[in-house]
Amino acid sequence: MNSRHSTRHDAWQWPHGAKAAISLTYDDGNANNLDQAMHDLEAAGFRGTFYLQTAREDMQLRVADWRAAFGRGHEIGNHTVHHWCRAQPYIEKLGHAPAWMTRSLENVSPEEIATEITTAADWLDQHIGTDPDRTFAHPCGALAIGVEPDEASYDAAILQRHFAARTCLTTVNHPTTVQMLRIGGFVGQGADARPVIKHCEAAHAIGGWTVLIFHGIGGPTHTFERAAHQEVVAHLRAQDYWVAPLKTVGRFVEAGQRANARVAVGDK
Ligand SMILES: [Zn+2]
Repeated sequence: MNSRHSTRHDAWQWPHGAKAAISLTYDDGNANNLDQAMHDLEAAGFRGTFYLQTAREDMQLRVADWRAAFGRGHEIGNHTVHHWCRAQPYIEKLGHAPAWMTRSLENVSPEEIATEITTAADWLDQHIGTDPDRTFAHPCGALAIGVEPDEASYDAAILQRHFAARTCLTTVNHPTTVQMLRIGGFVGQGADARPVIKHCEAAHAIGGWTVLIFHGIGGPTHTFERAAHQEVVAHLRAQDYWVAPLKTVGRFVEAGQRANARVAVGDK
């Protein structure tokens, strides 16, 4: 490896001279995302990514508000129709699959996962608006169908409609190497903003991209407290981060990786 190579890889630059990229994502279509999280984001001039599970009835009741949020620049992403996950991790932990899990991915065929994803994508096109950059988030972070884990069929189904997908891997994503279907995210829970801020600072230290995953903001269980959410937003606003929806950072990273690949080929 000569110095020209290391210079090229070290020279990754985020827009506006930012030291790191941060994407704030919110899963499942909780109403408090509309009423609380978006308010905090917009007060700071930020836009987030909101992954909707399209069969959820309480989400559908607010469809006009979700559509308006898309119009204001938030990403409204695909989180499937039914939120199927793998049962095995729950059976190991609880002794049974949770009641909300209507199907387990162990028993889903390649055709069925493709229908599950494209049906949700169609619903979003029709009710929210078309978006060629719309991304996907894996329910429960589960990457495979089948008893013998089959990730290739799940990936192929996503690629029919989406260029990028978010998982629950907790690493800071490195822009030169992250794969578009394996973008890792960190789940923020409870009342403490510090673990979330730590993952943002970790990205800042290496010029990386941290994706934050939230569910309800300010709601009862498995959620992140409103005050902690506001503390995270204040931290992001005070430092030189590029805060943008997952699709926006994803397209930027994709283009940068392509440019690097062209330079590498040209070197030979
Ligand atoms: Zn979910």
